[in-house]
Amino acid sequence: MTTDSHHATSTELSQVVNALRNATKILVLTGAGVSAESNIPTFRGEGGWWRSQNPQELATFTAFNKDPHFVWKWYDYRRGLVAAASPNPAHRALAAFENSDREVFIITQNVDDLHEKAGSSHVVHVHGSIWTVICLKDGTSYEDRRVPLPELPPRCACGGILRPGVVWFDEDIPPAACAEIEAYFRRVKIDMVLVIGTEATFDYIRDWALRAKNSGALLVEINPSETALTPYVDVRVGGKAGEILAEIEKSVH
Ligand code: NAD
Repeated sequence: MTTDSHHATSTELSQVVNALRNATKILVLTGAGVSAESNIPTFRGEGGWWRSQNPQELATFTAFNKDPHFVWKWYDYRRGLVAAASPNPAHRALAAFENSDREVFIITQNVDDLHEKAGSSHVVHVHGSIWTVICLKDGTSYEDRRVPLPELPPRCACGGILRPGVVWFDEDIPPAACAEIEAYFRRVKIDMVLVIGTEATFDYIRDWALRAKNSGALLVEINPSETALTPYVDVRVGGKAGEILAEIEKSVH
């Protein structure tokens, strides 16, 4: 995607602020960019590569199957980054948009827990959580927040190798997350969709955004660069999520 030289103007910001003031149902789709200002690198951005490895090749079941120890080293390092991270003004603004009249439903591709730490109450993790481990032998799944992990790969009490509870590039998204999102679409008439810090390369992300737009929601994108969704958005706010959302939060109340 090309880097956009276009920066947020007050017209675009006030369009978003006005729409937010009147909106009662807001869908938010977030990607790695929303956590970039919390020092968690995006895969494609600066600092995303690890030990000269391309994350898009490491984040696969194939890579894990070939060398679980190496892939776990990368996850152990990333768990350290996430453990040390705090929500930035973008996460905080999204949490602050919730009130008794306004429901904010967040679908995140992030495996960190910064939306929850900021106080958002409806968050669906379509790509799982970096704090979950799943046993490859008995299938149990549980939370393990130890950083660093005492042994790599970590093992389940049954002796089986544990894997990170995340969705890799060669895997499908969890049916439970899809069911929750379907139920949301059936229940809610969405007023506004905010797509923040994601390339929108996955077809399901584009589909959810366009489905809401086609049923009447205003589609807004916040990203310093253009994305696969840019041609379809009603309002594009070019810039960093933390900076833009902090501005919006100041004006909306
Ligand atoms: P992505 O689709 O998440 O893209 C990152 C996007 O963020 C880009 O469009 C970039 O322009 C934008 N961006 C960068 N800095 C920004 C900022 N300050 N404000 C707003 N937008 C900004 O793609 P990816 O990074 O290749 O990640 C692929 C997948 O890997 C993700 O969907 C996620 O599942 C996982 N991932 C998760 C985390 C995390 O949990 N924090 C971090 C990296 C990757």
